[in-house]
Amino acid sequence: MRATLTTLILATTAGLALAACSAAPAPRSATSTLATESTSSSASSASSAGSASSAATAKPKPTLKPSPTASRTPAPTSAPRTTPTALPSSSSRAVIVPAGRTIVLNPGHNGGNAANAAAINRQVPAGFGEYKACDTTGTETNAGYSEHAFNWDVSLRVKAILQARGVRVLMTRSSDGGVGPCVDERARIGNQAGVAAVISIHADGAPSAGHGFHVCEDSRQPNGPAIAAQSHALTVAMHDALLRSSGLTTSTYLGNNGYYPRSDLAGLNLATVPATFLEIGNMRNASDAAEQTSPDGRQRIANAVATGILSWLGQG
Ligand SMILES: [Zn+2]
Repeated sequence: MRATLTTLILATTAGLALAACSAAPAPRSATSTLATESTSSSASSASSAGSASSAATAKPKPTLKPSPTASRTPAPTSAPRTTPTALPSSSSRAVIVPAGRTIVLNPGHNGGNAANAAAINRQVPAGFGEYKACDTTGTETNAGYSEHAFNWDVSLRVKAILQARGVRVLMTRSSDGGVGPCVDERARIGNQAGVAAVISIHADGAPSAGHGFHVCEDSRQPNGPAIAAQSHALTVAMHDALLRSSGLTTSTYLGNNGYYPRSDLAGLNLATVPATFLEIGNMRNASDAAEQTSPDGRQRIANAVATGILSWLGQG
């Protein structure tokens, strides 16, 4: 009888030890791979360059302040990375992010949109009391490379560059295989406390003779002149960076020298933070499509987009 009892105790203890062991330590290593390299210089240089293009108004001063959000992503106890929600980006946890250095990337459309017309076509608020479709399918190259895939791929590349520079990046969608989210939901993600700016990433589908990129800011100043001035500075920074190194020219078919202000983009109309919208080339044009379809081309484009964002943040 005594022997039996001892065995029982041993068995129980062993079981507990096993359980404790397998529960905790494993997930930890998954998050330790992040780039921590260069968070140092960014904070101190942030104050100088941000206002380069338009005097005092351009500086992306965090208007909404409590930014303790930055360094602690809500300690997700759940599995990292595979969560279906877009927020928050779990992979930025290891980087110490200076206040006001959270960027939202908004990759246009989504891979599941085309097969879900009912969900995508429902009307949602688009700002200024207007309504428009939840989302759209986007365009594609003549060879069938889709805009949603391009937007997603470029956004991931931009995200990697920014994170390596100590910028926290949130995405409005978590994969290229989902539906939506709707444009008003995307705007809500961008309007969270602590977000410095929102950059929407798209490519155009125009007649094939035209080529080049254009950048859009809201022509109606939805959140007043101060935010509009910051959006303008952001738009100029993106324009200049794309012109310098994306491999694309400014649009030959739309706007003025690559600028095309709009009043019908819900993402801009609903934004309460500085926001800009990029149409990075015409997918129906052969030379733009060649750049968009090639991984090297997309890396060039992503480098340019990241450079524009960093320049606006004052980290360029
Ligand atoms: Zn688009």
